[in-house]
Amino acid sequence: MESNRTVFANATIATAAGVRPGAVAVCGGVIDAVGNVEPRDGDRVVDCRGLCIMPGLVDVHVHLREPGYEYKETIAAGTAAAARGGYTTVCSMPNLRPVPDCPESLGVQLDAIRRTAVVRVVPYASITRGQKGAGELVDFESLAESVVGFSDDGKGVQEESLMREAMLRAKAVDRPIAAHCEVDELLRGGYIHDGGYCREHGHRGICSESEWAQVVRDVRLAAETGCRYHVCHVSTRESVEAVRRGKADGVRVTCETGPHYLLLCDDDLQEEGRFKMNPPLRSADDRSALIEGIADGTIEVVATDHAPHSAGRSRAVWNSVPWASSVSNAPSRCFIPIWCAAGQSRSNGSWPSCPRIRAASSGSAGGSFQVRRPTSRFSTSTPNTKSTPNASSPRAAPPLSPAGASAASACLRWSAARWHTAGCRSAMSNCQ
Ligand SMILES: [Zn+2]
Repeated sequence: MESNRTVFANATIATAAGVRPGAVAVCGGVIDAVGNVEPRDGDRVVDCRGLCIMPGLVDVHVHLREPGYEYKETIAAGTAAAARGGYTTVCSMPNLRPVPDCPESLGVQLDAIRRTAVVRVVPYASITRGQKGAGELVDFESLAESVVGFSDDGKGVQEESLMREAMLRAKAVDRPIAAHCEVDELLRGGYIHDGGYCREHGHRGICSESEWAQVVRDVRLAAETGCRYHVCHVSTRESVEAVRRGKADGVRVTCETGPHYLLLCDDDLQEEGRFKMNPPLRSADDRSALIEGIADGTIEVVATDHAPHSAGRSRAVWNSVPWASSVSNAPSRCFIPIWCAAGQSRSNGSWPSCPRIRAASSGSAGGSFQVRRPTSRFSTSTPNTKSTPNASSPRAAPPLSPAGASAASACLRWSAARWHTAGCRSAMSNCQ
């Protein structure tokens, strides 16, 4: 007798409850059973010995380059990379052409997502018109329903009064501000961290204050306005401390860091543009502070900041290479293998465990985000009918397509060898 059920047997299952051996049965694109599942007559059985099954990850910070920069990456390619890495939902930043700063331009992006995405994509709208970090604010009300939040990622909002007004408007529509914190006047032409490597090699550095000064300002504004406030790609010890203090004071603040800031520091810099990113790789002490921040819950989210550039530009020299060029463009599809490899290369117990990161990377991000769960395929919970996307609505994000389901199942095929790759650097280079 033929059934339409597939049993992924002999797997290691990682959930919030822990890691255990077992099986997962999928029927009609929906998880039917988890744990001790005995295959029935007609079931298709996939032997997952040596493989791990876990809930779909959520990446709250990616740059899909469509519309406008398809020569760098399309939504189809970016979301396929996400699916390959175990992500079932990604939140895309608004540095696009056109910038999603009004319903019409956001509609262009949503249309492309609906046509080609293979995982759920929930966009951010920009905070300012043209995503300039200055000037005129967008119409928050007309955009809120279709976006996860508002961000000018790539640019800090320089004026305190403008950020205060943005927070008030974001609060009125119950959406978070996700801030790229950077004080322009402190950059002074720098392109790597203003630390030991920078001084030894005669480069121009970016001081830590250029980030944390704006984090401190914004945490104060979030306290004043009551806005949900999320700090993107935290990289300095002082920023972690500012968020920690804000949380202790009851401010609705959350933050993320990127895998590259946890795995590398300025001791690892080499004279090539692959190591240039914004914010830059900081000191070993900053890196330790980030790991401590994850361990004590100050940092809720590890987000990849997936941000590809066109071939050839990634390996150029320092002063001509674009920001976020290479080290940070791989992890959407290889974050988990890198993370596990890094954990295995550290034996002192200081490395946050994969379940800890899984918990941090899926779900609600400490209350800042309301990322709606997938409504059908590979969903283990009843959809929230109030927020369930409607496939015919121009505002709806797409359910996982058959191609997406196929791509998602591909993430089951991580080989044992990948899990046991020794050292994060070799894993990182394998993924590029
Ligand atoms: Zn970014």
